[in-house]
Parts: sequence; structure tokens; C-alpha cells
Amino acid sequence: MPVTATTSGRIAIIGAGSVGTACAYSLLINSLVRELVLINQSAEKAEGEAMDLQHAVPLGMPVRVIAGTYEEAAQSDIVILTAGGAGKPGGSRLELLDESRKITLECIGALKAEGFTGILVIATNPVDLITHIAQRASGLPPNKVIGSGTVIDTARLRAFLARDLGVDARSVHAFVIGEHGDSSVIVWSSAHIAGIPLASYPGADRLPSHPDLERQVREAGSAVATRKGNTSFAIASSITAICEAVLRDEHTVLPVSTVLEGQYGLTDICLGTPCIVGASGVEQILELPLDAGEREGLEHSAHVLREAAGAS
Ligand code: NAD
Repeated sequence: MPVTATTSGRIAIIGAGSVGTACAYSLLINSLVRELVLINQSAEKAEGEAMDLQHAVPLGMPVRVIAGTYEEAAQSDIVILTAGGAGKPGGSRLELLDESRKITLECIGALKAEGFTGILVIATNPVDLITHIAQRASGLPPNKVIGSGTVIDTARLRAFLARDLGVDARSVHAFVIGEHGDSSVIVWSSAHIAGIPLASYPGADRLPSHPDLERQVREAGSAVATRKGNTSFAIASSITAICEAVLRDEHTVLPVSTVLEGQYGLTDICLGTPCIVGASGVEQILELPLDAGEREGLEHSAHVLREAAGAS
């Protein structure tokens, strides 16, 4: 069992919709937990999902899955927030802010009242703004509140480059940073494949243009949601990677959303940037070297988020 002896082995998920249940299943089949607690606005839905997951357990590893309370959630190593506005395919994530803020304050307030001191992982969109709201509302130190940030955008970029270059995505090293949304920034200047700069990798001249790949990454969520009504598996794997880094104290570099402390000249804002993630949460915020265009793109991303926060 990969869970360390110092942990309770319990993860709670608030919001048992498409994202919450995909996260639960991913955590279950990856044997990352001993107990899963599901909380949902409709308790019946949480009960049904918990029952379905529990019926999968005899075919895998022993995990206790229950529909639970905030009192039980507060005793978890990690609480994952997925409750929030789901939005419409093609709509901006920023449009979800008012609804998601209201739900976040309600859920985090209930969790705080039960004395939660663990790690909070946020999937709810707009994830950068909600991570900041949840951090302040929870009273937890910034390192213990981790937004899924651009982990999913980075995975999508790597998937597209891998597809177009005919190479394993795990050999593609490239980051998307900034807002998880329409102003995300691809850091082309440091992208490489097995140490070979992307621009000089064999076949790179046949790749779609940078603007075209940037559009594909930004519109990927919408492209999925238009077809199946939501996105769930890629975000579930992103959240699982964050939980695994925490539970196994991996010190893994993941582009999560966290409160910046002067990196890139930015403070008091949550944005996706590579961070070292381990048992205490965000252990270190890394600052990628950026060229002038990428720096301008990141500043624009920060501006977009500050405007959205101020306007709502
Ligand atoms: P969904 O509507 O399927 O599920 C949301 C669930 O939250 C519902 O079951 C609802 O009953 C529950 N809920 C609502 N208010 C609640 C409350 N106060 N307390 C407890 N439960 C409550 O939506 P979804 O597709 O699962 O998406 C969930 C969130 O995740 C959305 O904000 C979505 O935009 C976001 N999302 C983020 C990413 C990412 O990369 N960060 C990717 C996909 C989806």
C-alpha cells in the first residue's frame, strides 16, 4: 500500500458529479486510499455513487467507500473540491465564478467548522480564482491549498505533440502555465523531447503552428464537452497525480495553481506554474525562464484573472 504510515489514508471528495466520481474511481483503482468519503448536495446521489464504487472493490484493492459528512471529511489527509458550476460547452470558465464562489464558501465553511487541517485540492472552475478563494476561506496556509491549475492543459499539450510527432507523451517535456482557461500560455522556449529542443526535433517542422496548437489546447475541454457533455477522465488523472505526489511525498513537479509570492513579478494571485509537490503540499514554486512573448502572455493571464475577480 503506497499510503505512508503517518496518514489516515482517507480522501474526501466534495461534489459527486462527473469530475468527483471520476476522481473517486481513479483514486480507487490506483490503490491510493484506504477510505473514500463522498459528499454531495443530493445525499442520495453520493450514496448511489459510493455503493457503485464499493461494489467494484472486491475486484481490486480493499477500500472503504462511504457517502459521508463534513465531520468525516475533516479527518481526511486530502479533501478534493469538485462542487461548483459546470457551465456550458463553449462557455468561458470565468462565467462560473459567481456560482462556484458561493458553493465554495459554503463547502469550505462547513469543512473549516469541523477543524480540517489537511491538504485541499481544488478542481472547481474557474480553478485559479476558486483556489485563491478557498485558501482564504479555509484559513489554511497557501502551500496546503492546491489548484489543479494547468496540469490538465499540460497533459493535453503533451498528448497533441506526442500524437503529431509519433513519440510517447511521457518523453514530451513542455509546460502550459498561467490561467487554466482562455489566456493560458505555452512555454515553447523550453519545450524539449528527450533533451532535444522541440524546434529541432525530427518532424517538428511538420507540426501545426504555435497559434494553432495554442488554440487546440485552449479549446480541448470544450471540444470534449461538446461531444460528451462534460470532461472527466483527464481532470481525474490530473487530480490523482496531485494526490499521489502528496500521499507518497514524491516531490513531483506539477504545474498546479498556487498563490504566487513574487515569482514572475506576481504576488497575491493564483496561477499555474511548475511546483514541487510533496507531503506538505506545494513545497516550492518554480519559475520557468520565459522569453519576452511568454512573459507578456503570463502578465496578460494575470490581468485577465484580476479583472474577473474584481468584476464579480
Ligand atoms: P457536475 O454538475 O457533474 O457535478 C457537480 C456536483 O457538485 C453535483 O453533483 C452537485 O450536486 C454537487 N454540488 C453542487 N453544490 C454543492 C454543494 N454546495 N455541496 C455539495 N455538493 C454540491 O459538474 P462536473 O462536470 O463534475 O464539474 C465540477 C466542477 O469541476 C465544475 O466547476 C467544472 O467546471 C470543474 N472542472 C474543472 C476542470 C479543471 O481542469 N480544473 C476540468 C473539468 C471540470
